[in-house]
Amino acid sequence: MIRLFAVFLCCVLFAGCGPRQLEPDTPSDCNRCEDWNKPVEPFRVHGNTWYVGTNGLSAILVETGEGLVLLDGALPQSAERIVENIRKLGFDPLQIKYILLSHAHYDHAGGINALQSYARAKVAVSEGNAIVLRTGMLQEDDPQFAHGPERTTFPAAKVDTVIGDGETLIVGEVGFTAVYTPGHTPGSTTWTWESCALGECQDVVYADSLTAVAAPGFSYGASGAAERLTASAARIAELDCDILLSPHPFFFGMHDKLERRDEGNPFINSLACTFYAEQALGWLEQRLDAER
Ligand SMILES: [Zn+2]
Repeated sequence: MIRLFAVFLCCVLFAGCGPRQLEPDTPSDCNRCEDWNKPVEPFRVHGNTWYVGTNGLSAILVETGEGLVLLDGALPQSAERIVENIRKLGFDPLQIKYILLSHAHYDHAGGINALQSYARAKVAVSEGNAIVLRTGMLQEDDPQFAHGPERTTFPAAKVDTVIGDGETLIVGEVGFTAVYTPGHTPGSTTWTWESCALGECQDVVYADSLTAVAAPGFSYGASGAAERLTASAARIAELDCDILLSPHPFFFGMHDKLERRDEGNPFINSLACTFYAEQALGWLEQRLDAER
């Protein structure tokens, strides 16, 4: 009886005895946000790697043997969907140990604050991403900076670990290597790790966006961002790459590939990173033509 009363008192005083709740941040408002945030069924990509994102924004879950690692948090309003998807796969979202980031824009970093607080996870990002994630505000060197704070600000999150270029973060049995691929943003990061299934191991590449998207007034040619993007595309093309994933499902043909799942695993394609880089260089060429 005394114990029951103590539990009751604890819950009344601290509201901390019940299951931990996700506390979503204010949703981002953008033209494509509603479509991007439509729910999709989570699925296993390969071995330890799962897709837990939404229709238009990736979130990737990796089971490490000692907890979970989440790559990207999509929009603020995606956090609940991501948690729901993780549960649907039979995992406990409170087991997320680390959250990693591709690039610090509202549509990939927006959900991180809520997910980090909920899971009490650590956040590990590149130097350039750390500066932006800690404030939720773009720096002047971001191609989209001139869109202004109303369109670009997102919930700031705590950065626990800054990962250098080429460094590997080891969680359980999995090593996540950060490859700096600036261009789309100054902090853009591509992550690679290994996934094994049925005795065969594959190199997974979560290649960051290589699109030359900018606010009016920004010049990819004059700012040097075009050279950075070109070098980053070359780096991605040279990576050991069996499975390509990226922050927008559209970039790696996710929806098409899901339709072809009966023909083996359509996500395994050792040419995918090369094609991804070539496609990006084509888009950059178009952008530079338009700037001239
Ligand atoms: Zn972006």
